[in-house]
Amino acid sequence: MRDWNFKNIDFSLYPFYEGNDLGVFLNGENLSVKIWAPGAQEVRFLVYQQSSGGEPIRIDSLTPEDKGCRSLKLKGKFAGLYYCFRVNNKGWMNENPGINARATGANGHRGLIFHPEETSPAGWDKDNPITLENPVDAIIYELHIRDFSMSDDSGMVNKGKYLAFTEEGTVSPDGQSTGIDHLKELGITHVHLLPVADYHSGEERAQKESYNWGYNPVNYNVPEGSYATNPDNTSRITELKQLVMSLHKAQIGVVLDVVYNHSCYTIRSWFNQTVPGYFYRQNQDGTFSNGSACGNEIASERAMVRKFIIESVCYWAKEYHVDGFRFDLMGILDIETMNGIRAALDSLRPGILLYGEGWTSGESSMNERFRAIKKNVGQLNGIACFNDDFRNAVKGSDFIRREKGFVNGRIYNEESIKFGITAACYHPQIIYQYVTGSSFPWAREPYQTVNYVSCHDNYTLFDKLKISRTDVGIEDIKKMQRLAGALVFTSQGIPFMQGGTEFCRTKNENENSYRSPDIINQINWSLKKEYRSVYEYFRALIRLRKNLPELRMRSSDEIRKYISFPSFYHTGLVSYIIKDYPSEKKWKTIQLIYNANTDPVKIELTDKTIRTVLAEGEDISIRGIRRFDGNEITVQPISMTIVCTEK
Ligand code: CA
Repeated sequence: MRDWNFKNIDFSLYPFYEGNDLGVFLNGENLSVKIWAPGAQEVRFLVYQQSSGGEPIRIDSLTPEDKGCRSLKLKGKFAGLYYCFRVNNKGWMNENPGINARATGANGHRGLIFHPEETSPAGWDKDNPITLENPVDAIIYELHIRDFSMSDDSGMVNKGKYLAFTEEGTVSPDGQSTGIDHLKELGITHVHLLPVADYHSGEERAQKESYNWGYNPVNYNVPEGSYATNPDNTSRITELKQLVMSLHKAQIGVVLDVVYNHSCYTIRSWFNQTVPGYFYRQNQDGTFSNGSACGNEIASERAMVRKFIIESVCYWAKEYHVDGFRFDLMGILDIETMNGIRAALDSLRPGILLYGEGWTSGESSMNERFRAIKKNVGQLNGIACFNDDFRNAVKGSDFIRREKGFVNGRIYNEESIKFGITAACYHPQIIYQYVTGSSFPWAREPYQTVNYVSCHDNYTLFDKLKISRTDVGIEDIKKMQRLAGALVFTSQGIPFMQGGTEFCRTKNENENSYRSPDIINQINWSLKKEYRSVYEYFRALIRLRKNLPELRMRSSDEIRKYISFPSFYHTGLVSYIIKDYPSEKKWKTIQLIYNANTDPVKIELTDKTIRTVLAEGEDISIRGIRRFDGNEITVQPISMTIVCTEK
């Protein structure tokens, strides 16, 4: 038995290999194989006819090179065959497809030898990524591939598959548009997909059973096979590209949720079965550190790990034309690696969205000052963090079941709402000691903050509102849902929403559905009809945000210069004023008022002049709902009002 304690090993002494030819590459009939496996006594390359079972049709030993590499060159008809590596490092380790595999057979146990140039769908060379002038122009919509189409009422044929995203003209039984048509109608700019890299998911060939969010990565550069029509061939690659192309055709960008912070397996992972210990952080006692709470954490700071992560992200961006990345438990990764990702992507294609969770799930063995946690966001180049402070302030903590937030009736947390409005950037009119969660403005610039109230984790917004307010009826819950949306889409920073929130998505109060059945997770499209008024409101909010550059300020200097908070205080009410913002729009001042009270509130305005109302109650209109001449306005219960004066 080899020793899995690494107390006496200095991994910084391992050689660095700078080449970009690690993996298995087929060029015509020339197969070139290279692996980085310092410390190995022998490495074998096994070729199989099947993706699982059977005996290898040939076994070759790799030739040692310098810098810890071993290589092999073969000639023959290899396309469509499968392969594994087997490393002897103080004993024979498990067969695996290596860490650089770009295609595998079903369930990812064996690599697939393929011609990459044959994986692109027709028209792929004309596919263009979506670039934004600034990250705050994005409107991000989070989706799980399977949730999007699985329900009986989705109207989509390719249920649970990448290809569902290519189906146009789909409708629910009650005639509401679904699928990609719905996304276009709603007006979002980016779809953020829960992990599509190959994860441990039971049986990929099974169509009905195995549901998983996908935060248990196995092959980092291979698309998940259960979303493909045939997990044994390259359809997983082609069909993901078809998804991307279809969304791009609709002018919608694609963000991938990537999970470089840990691997599904620890000792059995391809990393450990290739170079034992190197890819993971260890505790002082030499055991695996566990900042992910999943059994391990990746040592992103080690040279060959950093190289692996940066090359992997660039591979997805380049091969799949991806427009952004969301980093799961980004707080585990080190700052230098994250900035390395930004630099490498910028040289590939500028403007790729990067954001992540600025926290960990468990205790990391690396000092937090080196890690990409929320309060270090100022040291990250063009990478944003989720604003969980704002999330909790709007609707109550995710971790305290019945806790309320601003929209569902908690009073005295108005400063926390102001903290979100200003994108967690410093503003002199906020009293930070009254902000719940972070007691200081952790962002330097608005493009470093992602505003949201719910995502795949924890309760959906609708479920949280119902759990925390069992004393009110559905009409009030709908008002709270609208007001929460209003706060996300009219705050500075980058707005993000969980798919289905626009029509009150529910998971029947399931707060951790990572492997719950489809019936819990799937988007129920009939809700679109049932909650049509909420849907129309979210759609109007998105249109409003796109129409008003005032809601998408570029810098924190602009936020301090053009935004002010009126001096009056009213419990359960927050208001902010944008004045003289240099835009081509006709508004001199825009005042936004969020009333979380169950009663109407009369607000005194600065002076008596003609004003246009852009939002009131359930209505939003970019041209204006009505005009009035006066110096006061009544804000309806649990709603947002926006009033403007002209230049
Ligand atoms: Ca899988």
